[in-house]
Amino acid sequence: MNIKAVPLTYKGIKFRSSLEADWAATFDDLGIYWQYEPLVIQLPSGQMYLPDFYLPLLCCWAEVKGPRWERLDKALELRKSLTDEAPWLWRLVRVIVLEAAGPGDALSWQAPDDRQLWLTDCSECGLWGWVQDDLTCWRCGHVGGGKHFRYWPATAAAQLPEGMRPTYRMTRAPRPEPTGKSKGGK
Ligand SMILES: [Zn+2]
Repeated sequence: MNIKAVPLTYKGIKFRSSLEADWAATFDDLGIYWQYEPLVIQLPSGQMYLPDFYLPLLCCWAEVKGPRWERLDKALELRKSLTDEAPWLWRLVRVIVLEAAGPGDALSWQAPDDRQLWLTDCSECGLWGWVQDDLTCWRCGHVGGGKHFRYWPATAAAQLPEGMRPTYRMTRAPRPEPTGKSKGGK
């Protein structure tokens, strides 16, 4: 089966897939400044890697887990190379994998390692972003979590028993309207 991602233009940028555009719109909704495909990185293996997003204020590379599965390996290699060479770099350079929306358009994501990541509005800087499992805000470094409930990724939240699931579901922004004529994937 040949599955092709449908490109979509949002804010004048042509995204390779509508899922990527969904995330750009969601970042805007959350007030998270994003750059799309800003830089090609050479991985330790010699392979060139063009991550989907860089989130400068969160010091975070983000890879959208779409039809191009092979790119996930590169996100993993990037993450691994950062931890192998300098474990403390996790504080400075992060990698997150963005997934398709879960049931009810719930946002979904995962860390490319065993870390738990929660999306929250930090109680210190008041801004939306991820906090890692020791509750460190990726924006300001404050340890303590958010003002509101922590938002679990849809995949993890679905595994929690009823009653322990987040009471407030984080949904993605409405899908941007396609602009121009789409020619389909390459
Ligand atoms: Zn913060």
